Amino acid sequence: MSRDTSAFSTVSVVIPMYNEAESVEPLCQQLNDVLGQEAWAWEAIFVNDGSTDDTAAKLTEQVQRFPERFRLVDLQRNFGQTAALMAGIDHAKGDIIVPMDGDLQNDPKDIARLVAKIGEGFDVVSGWRRNRQDASFRRVLPSRIANKLISVISGVHLHDYGCSLKAYRRDVLSGFRLYGEMHRFVPIFARWQGAKITEMVVDHHPRKFGTSKYGLERIFKVLLDLLLVKFLTQYDTKPIYVFGGVGAMFFGLSGVAAIYALWLKFVNNISFIQTPLPLMVMFGAMTGIMCILLGLLAEVLVRIYFESQGKTQYAVRAIVGGQDGGVALRA
Ligand code: UDP
Ligand code: MG
Repeated sequence: MSRDTSAFSTVSVVIPMYNEAESVEPLCQQLNDVLGQEAWAWEAIFVNDGSTDDTAAKLTEQVQRFPERFRLVDLQRNFGQTAALMAGIDHAKGDIIVPMDGDLQNDPKDIARLVAKIGEGFDVVSGWRRNRQDASFRRVLPSRIANKLISVISGVHLHDYGCSLKAYRRDVLSGFRLYGEMHRFVPIFARWQGAKITEMVVDHHPRKFGTSKYGLERIFKVLLDLLLVKFLTQYDTKPIYVFGGVGAMFFGLSGVAAIYALWLKFVNNISFIQTPLPLMVMFGAMTGIMCILLGLLAEVLVRIYFESQGKTQYAVRAIVGGQDGGVALRA
């Protein structure tokens, strides 16, 4: 990968928002205040992810006030944070993409540090909420456990995969589409592809308005996605080899037990009915068949996965601002 860091001069902040009406104005204010100071050009792409409150109207107002800085991608309905983020990234024009939350929990003051780190030659800089300001038992503890598991499973070691505030060199993102809960795994995919990644402690504030869109069930969704991705990418396109191998072992076990049973019966004239052998034959054969069927199923899944890569995960209702080729990315 080439690292001509002097070429980085434009930053797109991408912010998915779902029912965050009260945060819109203070957030836009913060972005203007903080990023207005920077030498590089920037834009903020807000994605309204099917909010049922005033988020869209408030965002439209801000985009009309600051058309040279803000843009709104208004989605047809709620598609989830990952899809909303994808939509924002697809419409972003900067060389550096900085996703962040729209609920004032991330601090725009950290953006400049992340961008500077990319300037030092990193492809991905991941935020680390060392002092996370969420309910500790219900939120922080489960995510600690999840972070440990993700670290072990992925082999890419970060402290806080779930922190939305990150910075990416744009070309790092062009290699893959995101599904389900996968936005948090972008640094992992990038690392697997050879990208240079690092992490940086960022501020985290308690939620001021509204409520979190997630509960405990997220941890299971996240882990399922991770296993799926690991499977699809690391075992590449031939999961049948993995399942087939395991299946063959069970068939082998079944065969050995069958031969032994027949040998007892016909050579030694001992009945095998009272022994565990019939059970072993049956268990081995059934498990073998199941493994092979699972392998085939996984093959089908892999193909569907790759075929579906071309499809978008969201539908846009309207784009507000940035007509005629979009925001000019002026500082
Ligand atoms: N979000 C979204 N679509 C959703 C759920 C969340 O765009 O379906 C946005 C949300 O508005 C916020 C960010 O994703 O800007 C993170 O969500 P939240 O603050 O609820 O997550 P938490 O901070 O509790 O992990
Ligand atoms: Mg939040």
